[in-house]
Amino acid sequence: MKKIVVAGGGHGGIGVASLLASRGYDVTVYERRAENKMGYDWTDIFAPGAFAHIEMPMPDQSLYSYKENMTFYGPSFHTGIRQNIPKDKLEIKMERRDIYAHIIKCAKKNGAKFVFECDVSGPIVLGNRVVGIHTARGDVYADLVIDACGMDSPVKNGLPSVCGVNPDTGKNNQFYVYRAFYNRASEEDVADKYKVCLFAERKLGIGWVATEDSCTDLLIGRFEPFDLEEAERTANYYRKTNPSLGTELQRGGQFVKIPVRQPLSKLVCDGYAAIGDAAYMTVPIIGSGIANSFKAAGMLCETIENDVQGAYSADTLWGYQVRYYRALGAGFAMLACVKEALTVFTPDELDFLFDSGVLTSSDLSIDADTTDLLKIFKGNNLQSVKTKVFSVVKDKALLKKIMAVSKKIAAVTSVCAAMPKKYAAGPVEKWVRSYEKVINMRLV
Ligand SMILES: Cc1cc2nc3c(=O)[nH]c(=O)nc-3n(C[C@H](O)[C@H](O)[C@H](O)COP(=O)(O)OP(=O)(O)OC[C@H]3O[C@@H](n4cnc5c(N)ncnc54)[C@H](O)[C@@H]3O)c2cc1C
Repeated sequence: MKKIVVAGGGHGGIGVASLLASRGYDVTVYERRAENKMGYDWTDIFAPGAFAHIEMPMPDQSLYSYKENMTFYGPSFHTGIRQNIPKDKLEIKMERRDIYAHIIKCAKKNGAKFVFECDVSGPIVLGNRVVGIHTARGDVYADLVIDACGMDSPVKNGLPSVCGVNPDTGKNNQFYVYRAFYNRASEEDVADKYKVCLFAERKLGIGWVATEDSCTDLLIGRFEPFDLEEAERTANYYRKTNPSLGTELQRGGQFVKIPVRQPLSKLVCDGYAAIGDAAYMTVPIIGSGIANSFKAAGMLCETIENDVQGAYSADTLWGYQVRYYRALGAGFAMLACVKEALTVFTPDELDFLFDSGVLTSSDLSIDADTTDLLKIFKGNNLQSVKTKVFSVVKDKALLKKIMAVSKKIAAVTSVCAAMPKKYAAGPVEKWVRSYEKVINMRLV
């Protein structure tokens, strides 16, 4: 029987382990944390339909609630634009530890094996084929290694260049985040329970203040690392306009990173496939990655099943990349351009987009199922498009930046469409070079 190892217990890795085990494959997940320490001490938001992609039932209803619509603010807090996602389309909010407990239980039931508290230090490579992983408990050989070790995966980072998988995350492509839950300091009713602030204090970054019944959830995100002192100073800044945000830390209080970029240019090589944050599968403008990792797990499982000889070569695994890019990846590559635009807009320009009516509630009604730009702008009628165009053309500097982003989006769209449908080393390498060249085009 073919042996498959999953390096790291990322969401997509556990999802694909479960799917494969249910189909009779011998699959083992090697995870650094203890089983009861999986995940983080916080809640996540994702589409409830996500579990269906890994053929798992919904968790017990007592374990999740529905998220609030968010209200977005520009740097000066002049204008709040509230999302308008209908109730039946809202995502669910669930403790990350409960998500992990649920998917691990289902995966085990399907026959997936787990080795917890086992650090993976890198790939074992023979020639240009990945044949296993080095772990703290010894080397493990396998016919296929699925990399679900997250953004800084030592498996991905240890691949020799001959494998063609580029592990460089790149500048402005990771979001440094401080997330903490404080006591709810005021009982006053809060109109906007979930405030998302772009460039607060005119600093490049995003933050949120989400008022819950008994606590207030604070997230501070920047494109550069920062320390606890800066996090506390920023929390005090938010406290001035958010009386619900108390000073008593109840839980969380960690620094973490989220990838916010286009998907990996090459997800597979001989004996290897990347999934989840290891392959940068988050929605680049909001950092949601759980549902996408589950979707990718379904695609990877099907590709593996189609490889009836069990070659698990770049050739037979390429179908996974093609399916992923067609369904999600190409759209995320476009959204990565929009995220990049945020890094070149000035706070004044961003304020203008909020205050002048260019951005509307429908543009900001994005969720984890927002996979491309068309979904974002679908709510715009001719009149609102005219308003946007007339507002923007008045500001030459802003118009120039928007034109540059549009040009880049067009180039990214066409390079994604040109991805080879069938694997051949030369054309794939050529495509990877063109994709990375377009992605690296500077906006200003
Ligand atoms: C603050 C924050 C909030 C987020 N909120 C949301 C949200 O609301 N909704 C949403 O959809 N997404 C959210 N995300 C993103 C989401 O966490 C990821 O996109 C998603 O979990 C997919 O990543 P992953 O599971 O592949 O990787 P990770 O979450 O990084 O998991 C990797 C796993 O591999 C293990 N591992 C790492 N290195 C090793 C090693 N060397 N050896 C063995 N094991 C190893 C880790 O312990 C971990 O279990 C958030 C992320 C952050 C940081």
